[in-house]
Amino acid sequence: MRQEYQTLKSKIAKLKVGEKKQKKPILVRDHLIGAGNFTIIAGPCAVENLTQMEIITQAVKKAGAHILRGGVFKPRTSPYSFQGLGLEGLALLTKMREQHQIPTITEVMCQSQLLSVAKHTDIIQIGSRNMQNFALLEAVGKISKPVLLKRGLASTLEEFLLAAEYILNAGNPQVILCERGIRTYETATRNTLDLNAVAILKNITHLPVFVDPSHGTGITEIMLPMTQAALACGADGIMLEVHHSPENALSDGDQALTPSEFHFLVQKIHPLVQTLKKEAI
Ligand code: PEP
Ligand code: MN
Repeated sequence: MRQEYQTLKSKIAKLKVGEKKQKKPILVRDHLIGAGNFTIIAGPCAVENLTQMEIITQAVKKAGAHILRGGVFKPRTSPYSFQGLGLEGLALLTKMREQHQIPTITEVMCQSQLLSVAKHTDIIQIGSRNMQNFALLEAVGKISKPVLLKRGLASTLEEFLLAAEYILNAGNPQVILCERGIRTYETATRNTLDLNAVAILKNITHLPVFVDPSHGTGITEIMLPMTQAALACGADGIMLEVHHSPENALSDGDQALTPSEFHFLVQKIHPLVQTLKKEAI
């Protein structure tokens, strides 16, 4: 076996993230993450307004999404880009959660946002740029809400798992790992979706592993094959950006699927979900 992989495996086996017997599905309302399910998270990159959220929530729920995403605190590269609606956006997301009876996920960027967000959402997202914000990791480790931790833009698997270890070590075992692409020399894609990571994470940790082909590729044309590939290499779920009018989206419109493209994708992966997941756990 490759020495570097062996070294990673033995280091991780000594950590909480490496305790295989801890494998427990994560319950989000009445939906189980892990346990052989393939969870679909979908929604806009950012919450923009009520009409947008009504259209997208209804569409993704009808198409088969289990969880609604929508950023309200947005980590943007430029300070001049749309930064998210903040608490006003959280109120809109909460309205969708209640009216449409769908669990929600949204990102927190700092500790001061955590408590208000945790009160109104089902899963807390820690974004790539905060994967090594250790104070924030400890803070989400102290609450009892599932946390979806995204891999850092240029993080090794060891760094990713040590970040997850911070959360587990602080007392919160409900962590979902999310591969969202890493930086490489390639420019045609937004990032390089590292599916090696998914297969490896499934081997060496007990945590559910999700894939985000939206940020991982930045290309709507290849969302379907990359979602199929994620399924084939063992992912427990997917996170996809959907917008009813991508050309007018306030963030990440280029990579957003339309509701009908999303519906098509869910239909297309259905047989593979049945084949691959039915015998898991
Ligand atoms: C997101 O999912 O909204 C996001 C900002 O993703 P990432 O942290 O992976 O860039
Ligand atoms: Mn986005």
